[in-house]
Amino acid sequence: MPDNKKKISQALKEHFNYNHFRPGQERAIESALEGKDALIIMPTGGGKSLCYQLPALMLPGITIVISPLIALMKDQVDGLEKRNIPATFINSSITPEESASRISGALAGTVKLLYIAPERFYNADFLRALKDLKVSLFAIDEAHCISEWGHDFRPSYMRLWSAISAVGRPPVMALTATATPEVRDDIARQLKMDNPASIITGFSRPGLQFGAIQANDAMKINIISNTVGSMEEGGGIVYAGTRAKADGILAELLNQGVEAVGYHAGMDSEERKWVQEDFMNGRARVIVATNAFGLGIDKKDIRFVIHHDMPGTIEAYYQEAGRAGRDGKPALCLLLYAPRDRYLREFFIKGDNPPPAMVLDLYEALKSIDANPILVTYATLREMLSHDVPEMAVGTALKILEREGYISRAREKNGNAYLKFLEDSRRFRGLVNSRAKRRIEILEKLFNYFDGRLNERLDLNIDEAASIIEVKKDVLTRALRKSADEGLLEYEPPFKGTEISLLKNVSRDEVKIDFSAMREKLERAYEKLEAMENYIYHFGCRQKYILDYFGEENPGDCKKCDNCLVGGGYARKNSAPKRELKSGKSRGDRRDFRESDGSKSSGREPAVKLETKLTQLTTYDLYKEGKTIEEIAKERELAEETIENHVCFLIDRGMIKEIKEWVGDRAQKKILAAIKTAGPEKMKPIKELLGEEASYREIKFVLSKYKKDHE
Ligand SMILES: [Zn+2]
Repeated sequence: MPDNKKKISQALKEHFNYNHFRPGQERAIESALEGKDALIIMPTGGGKSLCYQLPALMLPGITIVISPLIALMKDQVDGLEKRNIPATFINSSITPEESASRISGALAGTVKLLYIAPERFYNADFLRALKDLKVSLFAIDEAHCISEWGHDFRPSYMRLWSAISAVGRPPVMALTATATPEVRDDIARQLKMDNPASIITGFSRPGLQFGAIQANDAMKINIISNTVGSMEEGGGIVYAGTRAKADGILAELLNQGVEAVGYHAGMDSEERKWVQEDFMNGRARVIVATNAFGLGIDKKDIRFVIHHDMPGTIEAYYQEAGRAGRDGKPALCLLLYAPRDRYLREFFIKGDNPPPAMVLDLYEALKSIDANPILVTYATLREMLSHDVPEMAVGTALKILEREGYISRAREKNGNAYLKFLEDSRRFRGLVNSRAKRRIEILEKLFNYFDGRLNERLDLNIDEAASIIEVKKDVLTRALRKSADEGLLEYEPPFKGTEISLLKNVSRDEVKIDFSAMREKLERAYEKLEAMENYIYHFGCRQKYILDYFGEENPGDCKKCDNCLVGGGYARKNSAPKRELKSGKSRGDRRDFRESDGSKSSGREPAVKLETKLTQLTTYDLYKEGKTIEEIAKERELAEETIENHVCFLIDRGMIKEIKEWVGDRAQKKILAAIKTAGPEKMKPIKELLGEEASYREIKFVLSKYKKDHE
């Protein structure tokens, strides 16, 4: 085996000019050379591709690489060609002739790596053409796409097993960045892997400091602006659970003078583009965004990611939080949480998982409409049902009926809105609350645009109108909705629905849909939510909790998250929070799901009272109240030394700028002189120079300030 290791190292140097492997790579390559199946879980940027590229060069036959991302495929092949490694790709971007010629090339042995888009395997001729290839390794990138339990299921990945058998069942290497133990098992099962080596590594992000704080909405805003204010430089992301929340947070931050921009899918692409650019080049320090923001964002110096609301899964949380500190320098990942956050997540879960009876009722409702195709809005369909489900669930139910072949849908259609003024423009002013100046302006502009036509039903293209009167689309629709509520006008929002054709007309009991798979999906969504919520209530190391969740072997404590910093002292002195299990409510949903009795949830607030807060910030609050280190230590039942360390942290973050109260001017000068002589690396030599003239505490604080000033 040492022989093998040596060969691998030589190949690494020869082909890639690297001297060292990154964690996990060597084990992955060894298993490929030994002809074993392997499941490799490494984060994005962890060096996954080398795990199959290097063995591809050492194995006798060809290596097939499956990748769903066309752009990435081309980039990889270009990169390999630059290193004089023969590789090519086959996907929808090339002609059938070109594809045939690339396969002949592969058969003739002119390439070592052949990248293929999974959609190609729908074609039986294509599969046959691959039959004579001598394949040594079958590598599958983004392997989580095969699992419906993952977050990015792709039906084309279901074809992979037939491709693997078509080329004679070579060793399989599945690679992904995000896989929970369940998804991992699912990948291995679906690809029929044979006792695969499991290599999970590199998820730890030592630069990230995790913390969770329980706070209500007003506190959340304060914490966000305090955090932003405390960072002297560097930008960050604030993630919000909904578009409306993102808008609200943005307005608050702008109010407080923070250079912030907003980003969500409701904005048009042009606007999103410049917002993104402003953030990328640092013109805006903070971006307030929904989860629509982030994919493909490669800004290395993001100093903080704050979640205003709890995400639905650890996967989503770690992916979003992990956008901080890509440069390896320290960054803060703060999760703000209110028990109510859970309801928003449950709302999304319900929208994603309509109960079976509702799907069947919807089918009945569609059959009852005397038209084919049917042009109908989701809202109308929802009204036809007796179920209390979000509108989103109607869309999901339609998707299920479509997937099972009962209906087909044309593309979504967006029509015009209707508007009818009921009041003269002169009267707007009197009727609309005088604070709503902006709304009056909007109404007047619209009124003028329509030339003052009263009593007429007017056709309104919202996008067009918004650009003519120069307001944002949602500002306009909000103004219209509000004015309609107040009786100033009649307003019908644009038709947002779908054209549905009924393909099968069978009776309710004859409908064949795999409801047990749907049930399982729902159960999993709740399990993931539990795991996310447990993260907040977790009293051990937060980074370790996440790494355990992903199945990384023996992760250690990060020593810098809020829980680590209190050294378990807090957990010992305060018994773990007694959280009333909220599964009562979710179990209710599941019962809903089985019996679909349409009963409404109670809407009861879970009885949770827990102070989890980034520990230094708690110290900071007490400091601002004017308390001394001794008093804070006593109140928090922590060692004075721990509080001193908090103060150093706060100095480092620029939150505490002045240290006079602990070290007088003269003492500061003396200590600074000693630092210059002894160097800032270690405390002991400095202390030795000063003797009794300065305490360790004084030296610590001056040293922190010195480092901060000399960053
Ligand atoms: Zn920790």
